[in-house]
Amino acid sequence: MIPPIASRFVAGESAAEALEHVESLNDRGVAGILNLLGEHYGERAAADADADAYRALVGDIGDADADACVSVKPSQVGLGLGAGVFEENLARIVERASEDDVFVWIDMEDHTTTDATLDAYERFARETDGGVGVCVQANLRRTPDDLERLAALPGKVRLVKGAYDEPDDVAYRDGGRVDAQYRDCLDYMFREFDGGIAVGSHDPAMIEHAIERHDEHGTDFEFQMLMGVREDAQFDLADSYDVYQYVPYGGKWFAYFSRRVMEREENLRFALRAVLGR
Ligand code: FAD
Repeated sequence: MIPPIASRFVAGESAAEALEHVESLNDRGVAGILNLLGEHYGERAAADADADAYRALVGDIGDADADACVSVKPSQVGLGLGAGVFEENLARIVERASEDDVFVWIDMEDHTTTDATLDAYERFARETDGGVGVCVQANLRRTPDDLERLAALPGKVRLVKGAYDEPDDVAYRDGGRVDAQYRDCLDYMFREFDGGIAVGSHDPAMIEHAIERHDEHGTDFEFQMLMGVREDAQFDLADSYDVYQYVPYGGKWFAYFSRRVMEREENLRFALRAVLGR
């Protein structure tokens, strides 16, 4: 069992606990994006095992009739072992998900994986006629060009600011510059996409910008935020827009929980208060 202190950000160790959390979200008008924690596997057996776990998970989502999809990290299902292994495992997940009508997101990892991730997305977006989505990062200099490629494909695209510490020649490192590119990317997506836009940000300024672009163009979109982060805003936005909460779960919760706690002072204060019992 995960300790109560971690349960703000992680739904539990098992798929059943994660689905229970999703049920409580669904009751409040928010859908779930289930993510089995795990990444950077160097062994085929580990990558295959997590792909199997995702196949079982999409079956469970179908059985529970939950308003939920899944999000998979490329290095979790074998990208580190080669693009072939990654696509093989992703194919197994997507095939099973299609049977249960469950949408599959592909998370984006560091810039060395972008080409292989977008290639896989393009293949499965075409094969499923839009049953998959991919994340792109506004901090990467290349992203405006990538969006032109993605605009022509069926499927969904999640725009985030980017969580990886990238070198200067591939990424903007200044927060203001990243925000400016995030806004530019939103402008392009709302103008050129046929829907399928996911705004993956907790930033009130980006959220407001997306709403303005939606009001201007009418393009379908959804908000996506993390479990435990600005949940009041998630439930408020769900009164008017489609909102998805990214729900991590699984045995490898500690590293994820530590990242969330360390990234913001108020999360650290929350953790300390929980430890000290105040
Ligand atoms: P920030 O730029 O961190 O903060 C801007 C403002 O937002 C803050 O000033 C504050 O007003 C508000 N805010 C932000 N966090 C909090 C908080 N904890 N509490 C209160 N207010 C807050 N990154 C990837 O690289 N690849 C992925 O596949 C990926 N998938 C993601 C999926 C989802 C659903 C989300 C939400 C994020 C994902 N990310 C991913 C992470 C993303 O790249 C950012 O690192 C992360 O979202 C922080 O950026 P931000 O836009 O939320 O706001």
